[in-house]
Amino acid sequence: MSYYGYNTGPSRAAPAQIRPVCHGLDDTGDCIARATTRGFCPTHQEQAVWLNITHISSEERRAHAEGRRCCGVTKKNALCRNNPGGNYQFCWLHGRQRGPSNVAPRPFFGVDSPERAIIRARMRELERLAAESGRRERAARDRWAQEEQQRREEARARAERDAEEHRRQREEEQRQQEERWHAPPPDPRSEWYEYQRSHQRQRRRNTRASGGHSHEEQRRQRDDRHEQQHSAQERARAEQEEQAARAAQDLQRGPILERYLIACATFDATQFSARNPNSFANIPWPVFARADGTVRVGDVTPANICFFFDANKMRRYKTPRERDVIVKRVAWRFHPDRFSVSRAVVATIGDLIGDAVERRAVVDAAEVVIKTVNGMRST
Ligand SMILES: [Zn+2]
Ligand SMILES: [Zn+2]
Repeated sequence: MSYYGYNTGPSRAAPAQIRPVCHGLDDTGDCIARATTRGFCPTHQEQAVWLNITHISSEERRAHAEGRRCCGVTKKNALCRNNPGGNYQFCWLHGRQRGPSNVAPRPFFGVDSPERAIIRARMRELERLAAESGRRERAARDRWAQEEQQRREEARARAERDAEEHRRQREEEQRQQEERWHAPPPDPRSEWYEYQRSHQRQRRRNTRASGGHSHEEQRRQRDDRHEQQHSAQERARAEQEEQAARAAQDLQRGPILERYLIACATFDATQFSARNPNSFANIPWPVFARADGTVRVGDVTPANICFFFDANKMRRYKTPRERDVIVKRVAWRFHPDRFSVSRAVVATIGDLIGDAVERRAVVDAAEVVIKTVNGMRST
């Protein structure tokens, strides 16, 4: 039995001298070098600032780093304001404060010294912020790329739709054109009735607009109309309206004055003879043709001739000077010396045995034209 006296306890090894080890961290792991100044080896002594920045919140660091400022800390323990040219970078002054690129969550073995635990936590915090920022940026870039892709697809779809629409329109136009080409010509009478109906509607509207609301007013107007229905004035107005209708229809068909001038030139250049007889329809009367394209004997009236030239003037087909030239040519064309029964222009009209009625009508109409045109020129 062994016995140990009170004075001789089991011999314990003298406590090991605690060797101060550097608190720094680097890519190889935890530094095991001997600490020289304030707990750090010469390589890691600049990492001491991580211990001094307790007053800087992580939010502050994040805003600072994402504003492209250096993540380092100055000697006054403030965040450095240098711009190292990127997010979460260190400037050339503070590069040595940077920790390892992947900070381990805990030491490889043993436990951290309190200082190193703080340094590790703060380095990991900065790393987390940088990773989050990178994720956010990547997400934004992906979203933008996705939107860009979507925009491009939409634009392509729109272009295709437009092209399709355009093609459909062209086909429709072509179809309509073919239909028009093959369709029978419209009945001029139906056009004329349609015009009359629309004109009546317009007149009724005008009456209403001019304040004919009261029954009294309407009755008076109706009575007036009854009185005047057969008067010459009403008939003249009706004629003028018919002329207006013809003008509208002719204008729809094309430049009427151009066609008129061509007809005049053709007529002036023609030598009439027994083999090439003239006719009433052949003469370019200065009036608007009816809906079916003809001019009848009764159509050549002063009112219609004035309307023909006024309408043309109003439509600005010609300047006033050009219009005067046209009117002068009309006076020359229908000169009584030319339009006399003994001249070929009139003498060849109708069958040679004697269509005296048509010849008489032509001479009378020419006289009307001359008188009207002379009256226009003198004013
Ligand atoms: Zn070290
Ligand atoms: Zn810096």
